[in-house]
Amino acid sequence: MRNQPYAFIGCEGSFEDAGLVIFGAPFDSTTSFRPGARFGPAAMRAESFGLETYSPYQDRDLVDLTIFDAGDLELPFGDPSPALYAIRAAAGKILQAGKRPVLLGGEHLVTLGAVQALAAVYPDLHILHLDAHADLRADYLGQTLSHACVIRRCWDILGDGRIHQFGIRSGSREEFEFAAAGRVFQEKFTCRGFAGAAEALRGKPVYVTIDLDVLDPSLFPGTGTPEAGGILFPQLMECIRLLGSLEICGFDLCELAPQHDTSGASTATACKVLREMLLAVSSY
Ligand code: MN
Ligand code: MN
Repeated sequence: MRNQPYAFIGCEGSFEDAGLVIFGAPFDSTTSFRPGARFGPAAMRAESFGLETYSPYQDRDLVDLTIFDAGDLELPFGDPSPALYAIRAAAGKILQAGKRPVLLGGEHLVTLGAVQALAAVYPDLHILHLDAHADLRADYLGQTLSHACVIRRCWDILGDGRIHQFGIRSGSREEFEFAAAGRVFQEKFTCRGFAGAAEALRGKPVYVTIDLDVLDPSLFPGTGTPEAGGILFPQLMECIRLLGSLEICGFDLCELAPQHDTSGASTATACKVLREMLLAVSSY
């Protein structure tokens, strides 16, 4: 991985010194509705300079941390397998160096590459998943590697009871039945149970995947598959603040599609979510 002309604000540390390593996966080949998430990581870096490095929510500042932004992977489009392999390899390299990966999508399928790498290191891995969509399809139009199936593919690796999902308000009847059968813990529409899940996961290795379309499209229209009825920023912030008490071994933000974001508000929101996530999971 090489350094980019600019990094996410406050993340200009070196790889050697960093505890968290950001890398982008600009991939959106399996997007089912409006493509464009491939432009998410670059937009976040560029717009991050509109943000303060200091968070009044957490009284913490990115400049007090050492974070390395490795830039974007160069990924082939079309067949998702080689892209996933590259993401898995990059996450594995970061883990091998004793650091934690922070993955910027891209569409949500990119999460699978990170989870493959993490599950190899942490056999007891658990996932906290925030999303409008269940992403539990066995396949989507015959494709098993699709952003509509990504959490089901993670379940294939982790098995029953390891995945907690929140904010879910869209999916097929089969996906909701799959969750109701006890395969995953699923909270529909809200994230009120997040504190309870965080309590239950204390001391366990946890990966957090945030599909930004969990946010209401009135504040986050810049995404490929907007779903009305989402959570608002303060509610997401309440979840993020709880992560400080957990062993977060990596996380991702996915599905920002900046070209559907005429006001720029979605990208600004994504940047703020990333800042807060970085600060929440960093122990001083
Ligand atoms: Mn989604
Ligand atoms: Mn998703």
